[in-house]
Amino acid sequence: MGQINVLDISVANLIAAGEVVERPASAVKELVENSIDAGAKQITVEIQKGGVAMFRVTDDGCGMSSEDAVLSVKRHATSKIRTEKDLNQIITLGFRGEALAAISAVTKFRMLTKQKGSQSGTLLSTEYGSSPKVSEAGCPEGTTIVCEQLFATTPARLKFLKADISESREVQSAVEKEAVSHPEIAFRFISDGAVKFSSNGNGKLSDAIYAVYGKEFAHSLTDVLGSSGGITVTGYVSSPAFTRGNRGMQIFFVNDRPVRSKTLTAALEQAYESYIPSGKFPSCVLNVQIHSAYVDVNIHPSKLEVKFSDERNVFSTLYYAVRTSLENNLTRPGLIQKEEPKKSELDKIKVTEAFVPIRERGEKTVEQLTINTVADTVPAEKPKSEPVSKPVIEPVSNTMTKYSGISIVADDIPVSSPAKKPEKKAESSDTDARIPEKTANAIPEYKIAGEIFDSYVAVETGDSVILIDKHAAHERINFEILRANMKDLTPHSQLLLTPVACELSGAESETVQNYKSELESVGFVFEVKDARAVITGVPIGYGPSDGRDLFDTVAGELIENGTPVEIQKRNIFEKALYQTSCKMSIKAGRHYDDETLKWIVDNIFRYDCIKYCPHGRPVAFEMKKRELDARFGRIK
Ligand code: ADP
Ligand code: MG
Repeated sequence: MGQINVLDISVANLIAAGEVVERPASAVKELVENSIDAGAKQITVEIQKGGVAMFRVTDDGCGMSSEDAVLSVKRHATSKIRTEKDLNQIITLGFRGEALAAISAVTKFRMLTKQKGSQSGTLLSTEYGSSPKVSEAGCPEGTTIVCEQLFATTPARLKFLKADISESREVQSAVEKEAVSHPEIAFRFISDGAVKFSSNGNGKLSDAIYAVYGKEFAHSLTDVLGSSGGITVTGYVSSPAFTRGNRGMQIFFVNDRPVRSKTLTAALEQAYESYIPSGKFPSCVLNVQIHSAYVDVNIHPSKLEVKFSDERNVFSTLYYAVRTSLENNLTRPGLIQKEEPKKSELDKIKVTEAFVPIRERGEKTVEQLTINTVADTVPAEKPKSEPVSKPVIEPVSNTMTKYSGISIVADDIPVSSPAKKPEKKAESSDTDARIPEKTANAIPEYKIAGEIFDSYVAVETGDSVILIDKHAAHERINFEILRANMKDLTPHSQLLLTPVACELSGAESETVQNYKSELESVGFVFEVKDARAVITGVPIGYGPSDGRDLFDTVAGELIENGTPVEIQKRNIFEKALYQTSCKMSIKAGRHYDDETLKWIVDNIFRYDCIKYCPHGRPVAFEMKKRELDARFGRIK
């Protein structure tokens, strides 16, 4: 006798339910997405005991007829697609026709629904997949679904749930994402009788973020707008002064659908290179708009993962959009407390209106905002003080001015010797190392009040005191000079006396061979033999072992994140430059003469880009006189 049984439909439903309804949060996400697809303007989510005892989603959307209500809880029943072709152009959040079947298989399920303009509504109830009871009922237009006692008949699944408080947090996090992905819908979230947040549905992303994630988060953000190759990225990212220890506040949407994506995460984090320390993470709320034919959401039943047909293009668009925004919005962190944004800054947290092609708004596209950071960071308003001197950063040494740019490295200035104070050059020519003039501000009047611990320079200017980490500042200045210089120049390679070997996987050896010329263009010299790369040259600024590590990382990156080679190159250059800048810079804990300090302070005022050292530490903190007065109790 055969051993194979065709499973009973109720067992099949239970198995399928496991993929869609893992926990209360996943069920609530599905219900909310149904409400959004139904065109709701108001959605209320209420849960009890983390959703395990009860979750309810109420909307004022289109509602269902009683026939549709009965169909809606069957598997593979959907109004959102019809044919295979439709799968390639999904414009709704749902399309699999699974959620209601799955949820009603594992809960005590009741649905009240009424179509717009209908005389009466429908009440449908079913318990753990029993055949539904349907009756006529009076109810408002829209749909309410109440589910109780999740997994009560499947104790094995119940056991996997966390404590109510954790489940509640997960549900809240899912609803938060839906709320900020749809600022045009008013959301309310209630847990155990307490309203946790409500948004007003006025269509402004900044208002939705404020309502959902609070004031502090909203104030940490700067806006992002970029577009290229049919992809548009809009939203907000945290400024470098606000970092987190984890990725919990990296929120991505693709076509208004909350998603997780390695490509988007990697592009975001690479854009923060040289602005935040390693081990710290930026936050964001970013929406990627892309034609639905170029993104596949049908990868997993939860619809949280997406695949792009051109990962690299998506990566670059997001990377450049974020990078541009960061470099145009650098501010100096406050010393005493987190800076309360002024009213005018709050106004700057402006809304990106619903998707409007950027060109129509007459704003710059990413291609137009070329990313050569320094060159394009033109301050919007210059301080109204006296110009003091010609806005040019004097080269640190003559060696550097002849592009050797990068090749100055440690050989020229031994780390152990006192770093050279910036020398005034006798003559200057166009090949000088400098940050482009058009980025320069006039230097305000200031006084160096003194130096603390031979490390921090205290500067008084206007009504502010600025405390500068002289090493970090010098590092960033050197970095920017080098970076400005290296444009169009081929990087130099540092040949190794003893070659180093880097073990490679099969995929990696193939990849590094495919990218051989790019890797060479950034300074690597290598041959691939027997699943290892024998490296005989590394980019300047790297020693043999960190050069090998860099090679290894790059090989991995090329495979993993689909990081476009151009961005790889740029990051490699930049990393090589950090090292160089660091070695060239004056040291904390050592004394330098006044002229050197003045040169550093001048440059801090002159260039907006000198806010963080290339490793992401702050260069300077600012304190207002009134903050100091308040600390001493002179004013309230
Ligand atoms: P899907 O969303 O993938 O179509 P679901 O099982 O989530 O599958 O829902 C099945 C169908 O029930 C939907 O296609 C829709 O027609 C209907 N439906 C579900 N929820 C709602 C709602 N809140 N308002 C109106 N119609 C709904
Ligand atoms: Mg659905």
